[in-house]
Amino acid sequence: EYTREKRFKTRSVNGTLAIAETIAELLPAPRLVVLRGELGAGKTTLVKGWVKALRAGEPEEVTSPTFTLVHEYDGVQFGKPVRLYHLDLYRLETERDLASLHLEEMIDQPDALVLVEWGDKFASVIDRADAEVALAPLEGDERSFLVRWR
Ligand code: ADP
Ligand code: MG
Repeated sequence: EYTREKRFKTRSVNGTLAIAETIAELLPAPRLVVLRGELGAGKTTLVKGWVKALRAGEPEEVTSPTFTLVHEYDGVQFGKPVRLYHLDLYRLETERDLASLHLEEMIDQPDALVLVEWGDKFASVIDRADAEVALAPLEGDERSFLVRWR
């Protein structure tokens, strides 16, 4: 279903932040991106770099939306406004709970960039996704990234 892919690898958190800037350029808004990978893989760190790339806020303010489920940032990319939504569905159980987040309304906006940690838990999210980043922790601080999109 995805027609394009690109792989990255790094040995450090700073490397992940830099890779996020490159991925941000590959995947401009509007888009729904599923971020796959186990706990500690680096999904939230990747979003932090993405927020920085979009000049959407102080990266220090980027934390995991595990409890609030959605964080929202306003940014700019290629001279156009971008509304970045950062979701974490780790604690979400059912499609009904998912419906209460109004994901459809987010992705209906032409300037939306929706980044969803644990989006692969829900078939409906995978169906709507335009791209995914699969993160894999390797030895120590080493991480690999497989980006697929259409
Ligand atoms: P996730 O959101 O996938 O659970 P986080 O980004 O919250 O992951 O956490 C990743 C953890 O791994 C952090 O503690 C971070 O310091 C550590 N880490 C070590 N090396 C890397 C790396 N190359 N990229 C991202 N995180 C790394
Ligand atoms: Mg996370």
